[in-house]
Amino acid sequence: MVKNKTMKYPKVKNFYNGDFQESGSTQWLEVVSPVDGNWLSLVPMSTVSELNAAVQSAKNAFETWSRTPIKERVQVFFRYRNLLEKNFDELAALISEENGKTPDEARAEVEKSIELTEFACSMPQLVTGEILEVSKGVECRTDHFPLGVVASIVPFNFPLMVPNWTVPNAIVLGNAMVLKPSELVPLSAQKIAELLKEAGLPDGVFNIINGGKEIVEAVCAHPDIEAVSFVGSTKVAKLVYQQATHHLKRCVALGGAKNHLFVLPDANPEMTASNVAASMTGCAGQRCMAASAMLAVGNVDRIIEKICEEARKIIPGKNLGAVISKEAKERIERYITEAEREGARILVDGRGAVVEGKENGTYVGPTVIDYVRPEMAVAREEIFGPVISIMRTENLDEALEIENRNPYGNAASVFTNSGGLARYVMERASAGMIGVNIGVPVPREPFSFGGWNESRFGANDITGKSSIEFWTKLKKTTTKWNPEARINWMS
Ligand code: NAD
Repeated sequence: MVKNKTMKYPKVKNFYNGDFQESGSTQWLEVVSPVDGNWLSLVPMSTVSELNAAVQSAKNAFETWSRTPIKERVQVFFRYRNLLEKNFDELAALISEENGKTPDEARAEVEKSIELTEFACSMPQLVTGEILEVSKGVECRTDHFPLGVVASIVPFNFPLMVPNWTVPNAIVLGNAMVLKPSELVPLSAQKIAELLKEAGLPDGVFNIINGGKEIVEAVCAHPDIEAVSFVGSTKVAKLVYQQATHHLKRCVALGGAKNHLFVLPDANPEMTASNVAASMTGCAGQRCMAASAMLAVGNVDRIIEKICEEARKIIPGKNLGAVISKEAKERIERYITEAEREGARILVDGRGAVVEGKENGTYVGPTVIDYVRPEMAVAREEIFGPVISIMRTENLDEALEIENRNPYGNAASVFTNSGGLARYVMERASAGMIGVNIGVPVPREPFSFGGWNESRFGANDITGKSSIEFWTKLKKTTTKWNPEARINWMS
């Protein structure tokens, strides 16, 4: 459904050996803006030999980069951080255009990318090793060593921020990286390559390979890739985790989510309603931290009314962005229709949203569904749209049981004025990131990001201090400084 006949940007390129490289692939996909259906570019489904070239480029660069002192490596990222700021408006416009989120949301994404880079710039302070005299004249010390060539596979919903979860940390820590952007939003990643080059990153340390399933499978099997990080749906996260670990690689794979908000009768109605509405509709509900299910504990009718009032103020094309594609719009609307057919009540209905002048854009309005039963698909599955499914429960334990039963476990939030009840939920919700009176409980740097259960496979979180464990290996050195003393180093 492409409206304009001419492509706005040049074809998307791969990036290795420090330069943009045109793919020789015969398979290309259209990149279309969800905002208005305009044709932005073409993205190649790169060949495995192109992946091999990108990996070789990283391998060649690794030797020198890994031996460069971290205090020098980090200088590149101070400059990159400033370039993100300098290119702020252009980056935000590109994110909004390729992903469909509102200009304000796109600006927040650039701000968050800057914050992530600032964290990476603090790495020299965080990776100092330990040293101890373990016996007379005998010392043990630890050092963090980079892994080698590493890969990062990313989803469509944050074209700039999610790559910046991994790129600065992994590279500052001395690795060379191959990034596989989402084929739906490959343009922001081109800008990352451009800015890292401008910041002075040596050729080959950062590389991009575009493609889909075939390239991801080849990444997971590649003998020269040491570690794979993945962010995307649970279905693919499982596959990537299985494939990468089958090939004996280190892997962290973040998956989808079904985030529950517990709303208690003593919650502040205005604050709760605005937080719930913002959480379910921000980035058109396409955030892995979006509120998707609400557990209404006891009588919270007053708060539900206010949530509906807030939701009605959120207008597609104004303060609500587009969903990524026509298929996504159809999938979300199918969920709503199915819930209605099964007896749920649609209090606010976002189906059939059309934005004047952007008729080829893909919009879904805010949707509030009440009297959802836990067995319904809208209660169990990730919808990834601006939809909240309200389940009514008599007490908090019943609500916790519903949340605990859900296979995902990214985030959960509780709205209450009672510290005791908040703590009760904080301790019992089965999720990696908990909010108290916060709709989107993203842990800001230096706290790490990562869910539980089927929202994350692998031992580490993907950002923050946890990323140090993931992107490095520990070397332990024992030294005897006084060999002439002839002491047993174990004594
Ligand atoms: P996706 O799983 O469809 O795609 C993610 C990446 O995997 C893309 O680069 C894509 O090219 C590749 N891919 C797709 N299908 C594949 C297959 N069969 N085999 C190998 N690779 C494949 O996810 P998406 O639709 O781009 O992103 C949305 C999903 O990401 C949602 O489920 C959302 O919750 C999740 N997400 C999770 C987090 C988190 O931190 N847990 C953050 C952002 C997004």
